[in-house]
Amino acid sequence: MRITPSFSNCCNPTTRRHFLKAAGIATAGLLSAGPFAQLAYAAALTKAQRDKLTPDEIIAMMKRGNERFRSGKKSTQDFLAQQRASAKGQYPAAVILSCIDSRASAETIMDLGIGDVFNARVAGNIANDDILGSMEFACAAAGAKVALVMGHTACGAIKGAIDDVKLGNLTGLLARIQPAVKATTFEGDRSAKNNAFVDAVARKNVLLTMENIRKGSSVLDELKAKGAIKIVGAMYDIESGKVDFFS
Ligand SMILES: [Zn+2]
Repeated sequence: MRITPSFSNCCNPTTRRHFLKAAGIATAGLLSAGPFAQLAYAAALTKAQRDKLTPDEIIAMMKRGNERFRSGKKSTQDFLAQQRASAKGQYPAAVILSCIDSRASAETIMDLGIGDVFNARVAGNIANDDILGSMEFACAAAGAKVALVMGHTACGAIKGAIDDVKLGNLTGLLARIQPAVKATTFEGDRSAKNNAFVDAVARKNVLLTMENIRKGSSVLDELKAKGAIKIVGAMYDIESGKVDFFS
């Protein structure tokens, strides 16, 4: 896929930021803690810094960010500095597809800052054409190296799909989750009242969404085949605060 000038123009190097440690850059004299690591110069990831990172390093950083969140040791985010530093250009390392649930904000639960990740949110974290287009922009045009599909426990959209709720435009959205309900192998009560079943469907839904991304986007599938990106899944446990990654 050709990278259009307009997209490229969105990405001017401005200031330095975190990722330095993972990128193998000396970290002495750092001013403040950044989202992905406990290191930062000012507040904006440069293209060079982002491009040095491997998908595995980015995944590891998101995991460490979640550890900080869970342990109550979140970075001291300087959002104002991040806003200023990223105003003329952005180099997000990942694109996250997650649910709209108010308790599952990826940036918060993985201790991320402004400019770190793209975040597409839709109830039930399903992938339709518009979501795929957004993810293609993030990876193929803007250079993100990880596509993370993140579901979560006690998801209302999953419960709605299990109960076959009919409500306006929500009906069509829930239809996209129905395959996960049917495909979930589960012994016992297959109702929305059973939390274990709801969470099993949510996990299956993440896996099917990952598959839909690969099948529905030749752009992303080719980037994956080249090793330029990784497509990974995760479940966020709203009780424990843990994000559990899987492939
Ligand atoms: Zn949800």
